[in-house]
Amino acid sequence: MLGILGGGQLGRMFTVAAQTMGYRVTVLDPDPHAPAAAFAERHLCAPFDDAAALAELAQCAAVTTEFENVSADAMRFLAKHTTVSPSGDCVAIAQNRIEEKAWIRKAGLQTAPYQVVQSAADISQASAGFLPGILKTATLGYDGKGQIRVHSLAQLHEAFVAHGKVACVLEKMVDLRSEISVIVCRLGNEESHTFDPAENIHENGILAYSIVPARLPQTVLGQARQMAQQLADALDYVGVLAVELFVVGDEQTLVVNEIAPRPHNSGHHTLDACAADQFQQQVRIMCGLPPADTRLLAPACMANILGDVWPEQGGAPDWLPLMADTRAHLHQYGKQNARAGRKMGHFTVLADNADSAFAAAQALHRTL
Ligand code: ADP
Ligand code: MG
Repeated sequence: MLGILGGGQLGRMFTVAAQTMGYRVTVLDPDPHAPAAAFAERHLCAPFDDAAALAELAQCAAVTTEFENVSADAMRFLAKHTTVSPSGDCVAIAQNRIEEKAWIRKAGLQTAPYQVVQSAADISQASAGFLPGILKTATLGYDGKGQIRVHSLAQLHEAFVAHGKVACVLEKMVDLRSEISVIVCRLGNEESHTFDPAENIHENGILAYSIVPARLPQTVLGQARQMAQQLADALDYVGVLAVELFVVGDEQTLVVNEIAPRPHNSGHHTLDACAADQFQQQVRIMCGLPPADTRLLAPACMANILGDVWPEQGGAPDWLPLMADTRAHLHQYGKQNARAGRKMGHFTVLADNADSAFAAAQALHRTL
């Protein structure tokens, strides 16, 4: 029996992978309709810090997580009783931008220029050097939430108040040419592999498309894989780690944006386009098995399906054109209520090259 904290779509795809390999799964999630609950053998429907539920989860042979906002205390408790991956320390780093950026630099890698803003007193003339910038809350941000763009010191003060005066990072806007991500599957020093970097296209702060292979020079992609590996090594990371990078300026320079201590939306193409997918890797590593072949078998483009494409009067989008296309692989997450911006599913198109996979995915997305 394997355990997972969180039963969203990532937990659901993890559950299916684990069961296919012959394991059983216990999911902890307070939502009675959690997407993973439809598949898991056992659904502990309780808050993530519920002592009794955590005690049950601790009975599992190994425990992992599908999201970063788990309390460090819960992770520490579980680690006393069973194998937990990634470690609570790594999850704690990924959930706080201040820690995260410090670790990226400690690993010898670049970030965008930034300044920590923990109180109004931290905002000074020196902050002007980070403008125009983005004031990001240190914790709990996702899909562009918890971010305010600022162009002057006055706006910076206002943004800090608007964030509720919580700890923040002021990050200088970089000259973004493209965004890529690398997923690392690491059990230990000798057993660590990366998937081919994905080129990520965002719309309204939310990932819209991931294109693989990324349409960038091989040297840049090789460097990105190496950087992600270097970061995973520095963290002595065990599990699946997603590393988001910015390609800036001359298109030869890479800076690390942020990390996620789990499978990532930009790795969903691995389900249909790679020898082993990111969820199989998560299962393997938590069980102490070496990560399997990460090879890309065909150029692919993953497209997210958000609640935005659901008709306002109810019902569902017309899936037929997408399902009738033999190049496309549809994955629905079984969520009951479609809301704007909510990730309801995705599909992946396989093609002869990255450009045609992207074009086909865009055309199919327009049919929804
Ligand atoms: P989230 O946790 O919401 O994914 P990110 O820090 O990844 O937060 O930021 C979301 C998006 O905002 C990025 O994917 C990128 O498009 C843009 N962005 C973030 N930081 C910068 C920056 N320093 N310069 C330019 N664009 C940025
Ligand atoms: Mg991000």
